[in-house]
Amino acid sequence: MRPFTSTISFDEARRRLDAAVVPIARTERVALGAAPGRVAAEDISSSIDVPPFSRSAMDGYAVIAADTSQASAGSPVRLRIVDRLYSGQAPAITIGSGACAEIATGAPLPAGADAVVMVEQTTKDGTDGVLVAAAATEGQNIGRRGGDVSAGTTVVRRGELLNPGRIGAIAAIGRQDVDVYARPRVAILSTGNEVVEPGRPLGPGQIFDVNRFTLSAIVESNGGLADARPPAEDTVASLGGALEACSGADIIVFSGGSSVGERDLIVDLVAAKGEMIFHGIAVKPGKPTAFAHIGVSRMPFFGMPGNPTSCLSNAYVLLVPFLRAVARLPELPARTLRVPLGRRIVSPAGRLQFYAVRIENGAAMPAFKGSGDITSLSQADGYIQIPADQSIVEEREFVNVTLF
Ligand code: AMP
Ligand code: MG
Repeated sequence: MRPFTSTISFDEARRRLDAAVVPIARTERVALGAAPGRVAAEDISSSIDVPPFSRSAMDGYAVIAADTSQASAGSPVRLRIVDRLYSGQAPAITIGSGACAEIATGAPLPAGADAVVMVEQTTKDGTDGVLVAAAATEGQNIGRRGGDVSAGTTVVRRGELLNPGRIGAIAAIGRQDVDVYARPRVAILSTGNEVVEPGRPLGPGQIFDVNRFTLSAIVESNGGLADARPPAEDTVASLGGALEACSGADIIVFSGGSSVGERDLIVDLVAAKGEMIFHGIAVKPGKPTAFAHIGVSRMPFFGMPGNPTSCLSNAYVLLVPFLRAVARLPELPARTLRVPLGRRIVSPAGRLQFYAVRIENGAAMPAFKGSGDITSLSQADGYIQIPADQSIVEEREFVNVTLF
């Protein structure tokens, strides 16, 4: 056994991780339908005006505004209807003084007209006439050609997240695909002779692999491509081979074997293959977490604890911010709830604790069972942070719950 000689604070761990972020440089072209949630890798400018023609913003009548200057409810102006214009049609007739065209929302404005009177301000007068009951001002109810986007304008900038509104702007200018940053490939590997893939028979002393699935889930929902590998055995040869096989990844995440038991070989592995950036954080759960650079390429390597709750908890608070920064995604805005604590919590001194809680009847109920129990998290809605210098949180004290 080799005990931890020292741990670093959680904040220091975050600082070292932030300093190690290399935003992904690889790009790929994807169809617009596959682009939501991706990050633009190009400035996207329009080669056309949007809308491509001036059009009516209302159902009504395309008129010459000057013809209606004297119109009012008490003394409407009669105009002659010379055309009917629907969307998707090119108008053929030019509107002259005293004339108008019935027009649908989205239909091109005919030549000569300079305003649209909405149908609610008119009354039909015979088969070919309409009474206009309000004076129109030039340009009213018209969407001008290029008024949304003029040709040459940039609609989305490199580095911007492609949210639904930006996807819409790209569609509006007629682009069918877009250059985006590649999703970082995250190699995920569980270690331990006892770890077996679900679906296989469980031998004596064996357990099913949980971390592979929790890590894959959290990676996929934060902009990464999870590349999960079969579990590796607790031998230098097996771990070394598994690490070599990860050379095509952008980030490597091993779990297990990172504490100080004599069979925990991650530390020796990193010592042989790279540089340890930290090993051991004053945090609960998840103290044995390690971060290293592997090889000359300084590949980011996370050594997560084997205990499923420790592993997932630190994935939320350490791996996710790192992965999102590499993926060039914005930080996750924390969703928090301020509620009273339903039962007193005692927390170890000297370690920042992320304590899992469940929301019940408007109160935060302790949900943490043990670091090895995945139900600590599967039955929780979020966590509260108990600072390193605080050892008790009293019942009914208000706490900030960060929701998962
Ligand atoms: P270790 O960090 O390898 O010392 O493992 C700590 C505890 O977590 C042990 O009880 C392991 O059996 C368990 N464990 C390690 N890896 C996994 C895994 N992938 N899924 C579920 N439990 C695991
Ligand atoms: Mg192990």
